[in-house]
Amino acid sequence: MSALETHQELVARMLARVAPEPHIKTKDIDGIVDYMKSPECKKIMVMAGAGISTSAGIPDFRSPGTGLYDNLAKLNLPYPQAVFELGYLIERPEAFYTLARELAPGRFRPTVTHSFIKLLADKGLLNVCFTQNIDSLEAIAGVPQELIIEAHGSFATQRCIRCKQPYPSDAFAAHLRAGTIPRCELPAPTTPTQTEPGPGDEHDAAAAPPIDNKYAALAASLGKTLDSADGLCHGLIKPDIVFFGEPLPPAFFAGFPHTLDADLVLIMGTSLKVHPFASLAEMGACPRVLINRDPAGDIGTETDDVELLMSCDDAVREIARGMGWAAELDAAWAATALGGEAQDASTRSELDRIVANVGKVIGVKESTDEVDALAAGLAKLDVRPPPGDDAGSGGGLDRDTPADAAA
Ligand SMILES: [Zn+2]
Repeated sequence: MSALETHQELVARMLARVAPEPHIKTKDIDGIVDYMKSPECKKIMVMAGAGISTSAGIPDFRSPGTGLYDNLAKLNLPYPQAVFELGYLIERPEAFYTLARELAPGRFRPTVTHSFIKLLADKGLLNVCFTQNIDSLEAIAGVPQELIIEAHGSFATQRCIRCKQPYPSDAFAAHLRAGTIPRCELPAPTTPTQTEPGPGDEHDAAAAPPIDNKYAALAASLGKTLDSADGLCHGLIKPDIVFFGEPLPPAFFAGFPHTLDADLVLIMGTSLKVHPFASLAEMGACPRVLINRDPAGDIGTETDDVELLMSCDDAVREIARGMGWAAELDAAWAATALGGEAQDASTRSELDRIVANVGKVIGVKESTDEVDALAAGLAKLDVRPPPGDDAGSGGGLDRDTPADAAA
């Protein structure tokens, strides 16, 4: 063996160590299907964003021009994200409840992509499904609840922002339908309670980001002004979705070990801009597949990254076809059809309707004594819109939207 050959062999070995053989041989649908069929791929972790629900007619939050925030910007909100802030909820509750009525589950049909996630579960391949969405369409599509981690909470449960006690779902739904504001009917708490930490009190303070106490102080202060002769709490009832400044649910942090277990991460319909959700994609070391209209995060920088820049529904149909699951996917999706009033509205018309309805409410000028008292309380506490104030704490709904661009 010549010295040259030895040298070439050495370089080859070094290169092999630096750039290991990819698990996904070709960076396309066929490559993904081959890997999914292989015995190496037993556990699939899904990361889902708004893009998997847009074909259901649910607007995403951030897309320029067509996103919810851009459209809410037309309205008389201090800034569009205010509708998901506790301070503004207390000040102008009508805005949030109008939006909640539009976005609450029950009006939308899951997409083919949701049914594909269900199929992964049926096949025993779904390890966990982290979702940023608050539409509960994963569960409605039939993905087992124990495999779903709703990073930004959901409309499935709700509680009083003052005493933190749960509130019945049927009563909450009735308020949304009637266009009335749900308030706590339990006895008033004897001491002011904090508005944090949100769902459940088993919150792990060590694992969670710091809490913005601004709103806790605000709510505690305003709680006094809400005390009434009947001795009841009267706190506003808020769905357990994560507002700006609130920590993510404990289940999100408890789900971290799944990222290390996964053999494949399927990132669908998210631009990976919202942290800490986006960080999930960086925790493990397995192949990562991005299915999204646009590139996202650092996907594409690792040997085993594949980017499918296309619609989620088209991509999962092709993957299902490759896996031999096409008929099962069709059947799973057919089973999600809404009875009677099918949701045929386009995202555009849905968005117009939603924004118009919120606008109608926001535009109402006459204010009640209570709103005036709350506004005075807000002024005293110097609670202002926090443009760009989304670094550091908590998660919240699409907190990466530049507040200044939307204000
Ligand atoms: Zn209460």
